[in-house]
Amino acid sequence: MKKEQQSACLRCGVCCQKGGPALHGQDLALVSGGYLPMEDLITIRRGELAYNPLSGTIEPVLSELVKIRGTSQEWCCCYYEPASKGCSIYGNRPLACGVLKCWQPEETLALVGKDLLSRLDILDDDDPLRPLVLEHERLCPCPDMRDVEKTLSEQADNILQSLEDKVNTDLAFRDRVVKKFNPPLSLELFLFGRPLFQLLQAFGVAVSESPQGLKLIMRRKFIR
Ligand code: SF4
Ligand code: SF4
Repeated sequence: MKKEQQSACLRCGVCCQKGGPALHGQDLALVSGGYLPMEDLITIRRGELAYNPLSGTIEPVLSELVKIRGTSQEWCCCYYEPASKGCSIYGNRPLACGVLKCWQPEETLALVGKDLLSRLDILDDDDPLRPLVLEHERLCPCPDMRDVEKTLSEQADNILQSLEDKVNTDLAFRDRVVKKFNPPLSLELFLFGRPLFQLLQAFGVAVSESPQGLKLIMRRKFIR
């Protein structure tokens, strides 16, 4: 059915399969009320590439956003139930899910980039993990991944060593936190986002282990 002919939700589940929503101020009560545990959230840090529905392009995120995580390697929302094509938290779904009408996107587009929740909005002021988020941002800020992508495609040799240093600093930090606090992997994704080496894989960068840490290898010339 063409979107212009649609007037109600068909309950097809396609929107949920494309990925969980970013959280907004109104959703803070769902997190603090235990309906959206931090283990089910993932942070997209400033500089990472993400689809911007307003421009219709993939571009670096200007300020971080916190989303409901996907399922294993997929972006499909972790609360999506394939058998029923339903939502397991329907009564407590985030704001962006409640307003979504794929056939009439104005309300959704009006929310894009507005009143987004960040990690520091979600973590209590006295949460011992809060200083670790700040320290990670200080030591391992996410580079502008569009710039990284461009440099890798044009002159990979000039950037691989510095990326390798950043990758290993990032992993060493995470390793230190895991040893000290032992958070589950899914909490790590909320606290620190995805490791840099994973983001680089989309650009054809492979990794191998060495006694000094991960080595980066340009597996193929990346062409977008
Ligand atoms: S909002 Fe659109 S994509 Fe989402 S379930 Fe309804 S019809 Fe499908
Ligand atoms: S929270 Fe529910 S409605 Fe929202 S994307 Fe996930 S499964 Fe779909």
